[in-house]
Amino acid sequence: MSSRILVTGGAGFIGSAVIRHLLQNTTFYVGNLDKLTYAGNLKSLDSATTSLRYSFYQVDICDRTALDAVFAEFQPTAVMHLAAESHVDRSIDGPSDFIQTNIVGTYTLLEAARYYWSTLNSTVKATFRFHHISTDEVYGDLEGTTDLFTESTPYSPSSPYSASKASSDHLVRAWQRTYGLPVLLTNCSNNYGPYHFPEKLIPHIILNALAGKQLPVYGDGSQIRDWLYVEDHARALVEVVKNGSIGETYNIGGHNEKRNIEVVETICYLLDELVPLEKLNGMARQYKDLITFVKDRPGHDRRYAIDASKIQRELGWTPLETFDTGLRKTVQWYLNNPQWWQSVLNEDYRLDRLGNEVLAALKTS
Ligand code: NAD
Repeated sequence: MSSRILVTGGAGFIGSAVIRHLLQNTTFYVGNLDKLTYAGNLKSLDSATTSLRYSFYQVDICDRTALDAVFAEFQPTAVMHLAAESHVDRSIDGPSDFIQTNIVGTYTLLEAARYYWSTLNSTVKATFRFHHISTDEVYGDLEGTTDLFTESTPYSPSSPYSASKASSDHLVRAWQRTYGLPVLLTNCSNNYGPYHFPEKLIPHIILNALAGKQLPVYGDGSQIRDWLYVEDHARALVEVVKNGSIGETYNIGGHNEKRNIEVVETICYLLDELVPLEKLNGMARQYKDLITFVKDRPGHDRRYAIDASKIQRELGWTPLETFDTGLRKTVQWYLNNPQWWQSVLNEDYRLDRLGNEVLAALKTS
């Protein structure tokens, strides 16, 4: 079993959940390798940074020399590779960083891992794993209402983001087939939960609603996503890196298919209960009055839904949260942790006005 895990992208949304999970629930040593782009935030790891089992390396996965130095120093028994450019809208506006990090970066990391792995003695070499974390978006979208993505669904990515992730998946499989690198892959559905960067749908809606701003919904809001609470994903990933079979792919999903408009409305109902709008700014309105439909995203996939029966059958993993319990926890977390998202809005996202409006609104509630 692996005991020194190098997590790339550990300052991001899912990577930080993985690191918190590893430090709280295992005795493993954890190295966090992250470039700290706009999406990386060490404040998501406050509880981890005091652990003697945690170390941080500010490194770009495209920098081979720096990667070699980290492998030599940290001596990982497994790599969990989450570092990526991850926002579809940004990939449409400017694909270059997605090609660079998701494809060239994964290639560079694979080569660094392969070199390091080749230097290990046979016992350590046999247990080393390279776990590549990917997305269900590589499969494209589903037309009907009942089909599910399985591990053998053909790839058909729609956006520069999903195409770059699909490329990286192919590279990882090729590095096993060609060089024998012991890889594992996971493809997961949409995540949500604490420490989610405010540009993504759920935190964006929560924070806009709290600021009394419009709640933008693409097209008619009928696109369907299969939502998974981030801590359930982190648990699944740790299960795969510990017990997954070399060369296998595991789909991970929450069995929570929701239309985008349902997601937004559910957030509104939760906020109506937890922070009623009239208490917030003196107006007797419901949050859903703030919903506004905006021009659809180009190439917007209609429906994603995951068949997660393989990971359930082979590794015994199932999600612990339903969408209702997970979303309630998430909304409550944003209400309880304004210091986290306020600093993100101020320092990185350059939307301090929104942050200040939300904070002012919360103070008067
Ligand atoms: P995120 O954008 O929140 O975090 C990405 C992290 O990678 C950040 O900390 C960033 O600083 C770091 N990073 C970016 N470029 C880097 C580089 N060149 N070198 C080193 N570090 C770099 O992303 P996330 O939502 O946590 O997603 C993590 C992984 O999971 C991604 O590979 C993504 O494709 C995959 N995934 C995400 C979801 C989701 O719903 N968020 C679902 C399925 C799969």
